This record gives sequence, structure tokens and C-alpha cells, in this order.
Amino acid sequence: MKMYYEKDVDVDILKDKTVAVIGYGSQGMAQSRNMHESGLNVVVGLRKDGASWNKAKEDGLTVMTIEEAAAKADVIHVLIPDEIQAKVYEESIKDNLESGNTISFSHGYNIHFGYINPPKDVNITMIAPKGPGAMVRKTYEEGFGVPGLIAIERDYTGDAFKIALAMGQGSGLTRAGVLETTFKEETETDLFGEQVVLCGGVTELIAAGFQTLVDAGYQPEIAYFETCHEVKLIVDLIYAKGFAGMWNDVSNTAEYGGLSRRKRIITDETRLEMKKALEEIQTGEFAKEWTLENQAGKPMLNRLRAIEASLQIEKVGSKLRKLCGLQK
Ligand code: NDP
Ligand code: MG
Ligand code: MG
Repeated sequence: MKMYYEKDVDVDILKDKTVAVIGYGSQGMAQSRNMHESGLNVVVGLRKDGASWNKAKEDGLTVMTIEEAAAKADVIHVLIPDEIQAKVYEESIKDNLESGNTISFSHGYNIHFGYINPPKDVNITMIAPKGPGAMVRKTYEEGFGVPGLIAIERDYTGDAFKIALAMGQGSGLTRAGVLETTFKEETETDLFGEQVVLCGGVTELIAAGFQTLVDAGYQPEIAYFETCHEVKLIVDLIYAKGFAGMWNDVSNTAEYGGLSRRKRIITDETRLEMKKALEEIQTGEFAKEWTLENQAGKPMLNRLRAIEASLQIEKVGSKLRKLCGLQK
């Protein structure tokens, strides 16, 4: 494993180059503003009729259409949602790529699964913050950054790595450290993490614990505090000090109860399903399913969203967060 920091950056590599950030959402806004303030030549490529156009202008950035930005720039950094990247690439980026350009991403999905196939004479790079856009921006403003991942899928010009690392520097990532990976590793582990632990696993664990208490007759508000609100406090401890630091901070009773019961909650059956979810990612089955889902207009996602919104924990939580001043 190798980490790269500010001292490893060739600061001149982007001096005479223009970076076009395509998209001004969670990552686009954070990365383009950070790179701009770091002194890189940044333009933002957007559709004219979208909400981002004025936002990026008001933030003082140079805004143009995606076609214009892709044509003008040496580095085209694609930060629009993964499921629309292939379409926007075909319609607005592909014909504006020049030999020796770099096409860059913050997630390897479309390159790894073959939905975007840039021409042979273009670098393909990734610089990916390990944190949501708001965090990328906030830590940068505080003079630091979030850690990042770097990967090179194709190095046509011979300096693709330097270019990607300098972009990471612009976004503040080299202040915390940038770790080298591959498109395959980043894509597959990112999907696995969000499905099994971060987004899928955590919400289902919380919801199941909440429902168990409510079904047993406990007040939903109490159940919410015990199974949802406190998750952050525990995760913050793990984030800062590891499992050991967390076990050290909770009571001996919590430590004994947790250690002696947890394997009954995450069972061998659960681990087997984790493996299956990973295999669906590795074989491309998940990506195919997600592509079909998008082509059909997201019927399943809309159904799942409706179910999620109707959960009792969401209603109780929303009420409590307001009462406690955690949410407006
Ligand atoms: P967002 O959903 O926040 O992107 C929104 C932006 O995309 C807006 O500027 C929007 O413009 C534009 N956009 C949406 N649809 C279209 C379209 N059809 N044509 C043109 N522009 C469009 O994306 P994220 O920032 O979440 O993700 C960007 C990339 O970063 C992805 O590859 C993702 O995997 C990766 N990533 C994201 C992280 C995150 O925290 N969100 C973390 C790490 C990586 P408009 O206003 O015109 O609609
Ligand atoms: Mg992801
Ligand atoms: Mg307790």
C-alpha cells in the first residue's frame, strides 16, 4: 500500500492545462470550487436548462455547456450521476475529446463495466474523495481535506498519474493522503460497501432493531433513540479510535452484551448473503440490473423509496429530530 501526500505532487503538471468539471452536484460543486481556489484552471460543463447552471455562476465559476467545456479542456472530470454518464458521454463529450486528453472520474463504474469506452489516445484516470461532497468542501475550507483514492486505467501520455494526483491536491485530498487502487478494486469495493454495510446494511440493522422494540410494546421515541440516534455516537467512536476505543468508552455491560451477542445478529447466513452480493457485483449482474432499471424509468427504485418513506421510524425520527433541534 502506498499513500501520496502534498510532497509527492508535481505542482506544475496542470499549470497550462484546463480542467473541465462536468456536473455541479455533490462532488462537482465541492471539487470544482476546491480546485479553483487552489489555483487550477477550472471550467464547469453543464446543461443550460438545469438548476446547476446559475448556482455555479453565482459561486464565481466559469460555466459553459458540456460540449464547450469538453472541447476546451485538457482534462474532462465527469461528476454527474453514474447512471447517466454513458449517455452524456456519447452525446456531449466523446466527439470533443482530443488525442492526449485525460478523461477522469470519481468512481470507476462506467469504465470498469464497459459503459464508457474512450478512444485509445486518451488517458483514463480516477481521483475519488472518500467522503460526501459537503465534507470534501468543508474540510478544504478548514485547511485540510478528506482522504482519496487514485487509479489509472490507461496512461497514454505517460503522465496520467501526475495529472490525477495534482487534481487530488487541488481538491485537498493529498493533505489527508491519497491511496493507490485500480478501477476494478475501487468500483467493486465501493458498490459492496454501500450495499452491504454503509447504506443497505446499516439502515436494515437500525430498522430491524427499532421494529423489534416497538413490536414488543416499547415507546417508538425511546426505540428511536436506542437503535438509531445513538448509532452516530458509537460510529464516531469507532471512526476516531477503532473498535477498541469504542469498547473502552462504553460500559463493561455494553461491552460484554455486544461481544457475546453480535454473532447471533450477523449470522453465517448473513455472511453468505454478503458473499452473494459481492459475486453479483463482480460478475456485472448488479450493473446490468441497474442499467435495466434505469431504462425502465426506475420502477423498482420508486417502489422501494415509497416503502422507505412510509416506515414508522422515519416518521418518529423526523418528529424527534425537530424537537431536539437536530433538523429544521
Ligand atoms: P450528483 O447527483 O450530485 O450530480 C448532480 C449533477 O449532475 C448536477 O450538476 C446535475 O445538473 C447534473 N446532471 C444530472 N443529470 C444530468 C443530465 N441528464 N445531463 C447533464 N447533467 C446532469 O452526483 P454526485 O456528485 O453524487 O456523483 C458524481 C460522481 O461522483 C459519481 O461518479 C459518483 O459515484 C461519484 N462519487 C460521489 C460521492 C458522493 O458523495 N455523492 C462520493 C464519491 C464519489 P443539473 O442541475 O443540470 O440537473
Ligand atoms: Mg458509491
Ligand atoms: Mg444504552
